[in-house]
Amino acid sequence: MIQRQRIFITGRVQGVGFRPAVYRIARGLGLSGVVYNDTKGVTIELQGKKEKTTEFLVRLQSDADKPPLAEIKSLDVVEIPVIEAEGKFTIRTSDSQGSPLSQVTADIATCRDCLGEVADKEDFRYGYPFINCTNCGPRYSIVKNIPYDRPNTTMSVFKMCDRCAAQYTEITDRRFHAQPVACGECGPKIRLTDNKGKTIETQTEKVIAETAHLLSAGKIVAIKGIGGFHLAVDALNNKAVEKLRERKKRDHKPFAMMADLIEKIKKYAIVSKSAEQLLKSTQSPIVLLPKKRNCPIAPSVAEGVSTYGFMLCYAPLHYLLFEQLNDCGMDVLVMTSGNISDEPLIRKNEPALERLTDVADAFLMHDRKIYRQVDDSIVHLVAEQAVLLRRARGYVPSPIFTEENCRQDIFAAGADLKNTFCFAKQNQFICSEHIGDLEDAEVYHHYINSIEHLRKLFEVEPKVVACDLHPGYLSTQYALSSVGSKVINIQHHWAHIASVLAEHGHSGPVIGLAADGTGYGTDGAVWGCECLIASLEKFERFGHLAYYQLAGADKASKEAVRPALSLLQKAYGGKFNLQKFEWLLKRIEPDINRLQIISEQLEKGVNCVETSSLGRVFDAVAAMLRLGSYNHFDAQLPMALEAVIENEIEEQYNFELTNRTGETLQLDLDKMVKELIADIQKGLTNSVISAKFHNCLAAGLLEMAKAARESTKLNTVALSGGVFCNRYLIIRCIKLLKETGFSVLFNRDVPSNDGGISLGQAAIAAQQV
Ligand SMILES: [Zn+2]
Ligand SMILES: [Zn+2]
Repeated sequence: MIQRQRIFITGRVQGVGFRPAVYRIARGLGLSGVVYNDTKGVTIELQGKKEKTTEFLVRLQSDADKPPLAEIKSLDVVEIPVIEAEGKFTIRTSDSQGSPLSQVTADIATCRDCLGEVADKEDFRYGYPFINCTNCGPRYSIVKNIPYDRPNTTMSVFKMCDRCAAQYTEITDRRFHAQPVACGECGPKIRLTDNKGKTIETQTEKVIAETAHLLSAGKIVAIKGIGGFHLAVDALNNKAVEKLRERKKRDHKPFAMMADLIEKIKKYAIVSKSAEQLLKSTQSPIVLLPKKRNCPIAPSVAEGVSTYGFMLCYAPLHYLLFEQLNDCGMDVLVMTSGNISDEPLIRKNEPALERLTDVADAFLMHDRKIYRQVDDSIVHLVAEQAVLLRRARGYVPSPIFTEENCRQDIFAAGADLKNTFCFAKQNQFICSEHIGDLEDAEVYHHYINSIEHLRKLFEVEPKVVACDLHPGYLSTQYALSSVGSKVINIQHHWAHIASVLAEHGHSGPVIGLAADGTGYGTDGAVWGCECLIASLEKFERFGHLAYYQLAGADKASKEAVRPALSLLQKAYGGKFNLQKFEWLLKRIEPDINRLQIISEQLEKGVNCVETSSLGRVFDAVAAMLRLGSYNHFDAQLPMALEAVIENEIEEQYNFELTNRTGETLQLDLDKMVKELIADIQKGLTNSVISAKFHNCLAAGLLEMAKAARESTKLNTVALSGGVFCNRYLIIRCIKLLKETGFSVLFNRDVPSNDGGISLGQAAIAAQQV
């Protein structure tokens, strides 16, 4: 019996070769009908014998037939009247180009088919560094505007040759409507210059061979990739890596590395099954992996941390380069962002030559413009689940879906550190890529431009603007300056917890545990470690880390001596005297005068704030253990403290839960401080002390959650905040909470650090308008 169905599909089904796949399957099965894009997804009308239409649906969802990048979120089928004498199955392209929200997809790592062709001497793209197809290649980084068509990308200046055009227009071809299609004859080209921009080589093969030669000689080469420039250097050559550190003015932050084969990464780091999948995924992020002992990676690549950040090649140029590197006997490269310290990633050729002239010895550049700079994403594994620490290339602009449509378009400004911003439109939250720390003037400029670009790209007209409660945040000031919009200020840690709720499609209420550095509180204090009863509608502060005084506002997040003195003064109160603790404090600050000044400042309360920051407690403890006394980059000391832990230590320090105010519960760490100092005096190892410290915090957070459950009968806990980027702590918290019968939610798709704040703000605002 002949039947006709209308099938409506949502998810990632536009711009990924979905319609051609539908077409191929339908024709193959002798079905008639039509497929077209509309504003929410893809609609198929399908006519034929019932067993054939059933087979169609099975095959459309099978790995063999579904386009690799497609993701079906929902699929609804209804019977409709049969159309007599319908011809063959067709693709209707005249309709809407589809929704602006679903057209632009993320940049995708080079696919297997393209890798096969680039290595095939018979193929006309043999050795071509910009090979791509519908299943791979740049997208987001080259889009200027919608509709997503070649004239609206940076590929518009390259006129397709006949061979490329033939593939682009052939519906059964892998390159049908693949906008960046190109070949050696018609597409972008590479060249190698010295650090003044003088051309060294332009012939593709020779450019790559010479680059490999320079790298093997210990030189630093700036390489233009998909989302911006990298600075590359031999990761096994310590002298060369140190030179890069010195020139880049990045004293301590670990460098990421790149390899062409998973086997190479396995030589230097422990790669679990999930980690391997993640490394090989189409997003191709940097994955943080436990270091192997005694490995020959240059020590200065990643000091003071227990992990290496590795990624696999994700652009054809990378693969071609590694082929040559292998011939030079080289193994893995440092591939770190092409910028100076905390400035934005550089994406254009001329500025790269200008700014990096004293950093790189040579420049491997190309003439395909990058329209949006996109950093490499960073991921680590928590209980074998991928958790994003920096969300950018490969993930942005993939949206986070909501159950209900937003009643109005929303802009959420994010936080000032590790900034991202977010738009809410229809049933989607679209988070920007990692923008950076807004206090850098260039980053702030980039932030303003990016907001405008994405607003246009996704056709968002926000009438509601969400931002942090902190009046001093640049992002808050930007939000307040938007004329004619309703502004909603949202408490920092509420936004953290809301980001978890948004990701999990949960509206709350839940018990929210925020373990964080700093955020402006509703009482004017600097909040940090909070237990909130939170939904997307409202929150209540149930408990927090007992306040301590912190001297010297801005300096306090860098200089560990400040929180160290604060914790000692709080723990010992009137009995604190500097002489008694000189032995300990001199480890952190050898200048006794400075110790005295800060100490007096605390006693008198001059330029001091009350805080429940947990990040600063980590700083103080790390410094007491001589792991450093200054955060040269965010969370350097906490990371060093986590790195020294030996697993399988169950002991912990004591803490107290007090109810002094009669209102909110307080987690008091005075006992912990005293016991920890006694352990240092006893000469206990850092690894044991650090484990006892972490275990104490996990136990303290658990007790707060239990008290909250007792009082509210809620049983779901949401974990967020920058301190939960600490793998040991979050794994232990999840374990303890689950053992106690809680269900536990935590951030995976957006970072639990301030990179996730904008999503939380948008989700709260969406609930309020
Ligand atoms: Zn491909
Ligand atoms: Zn061509």
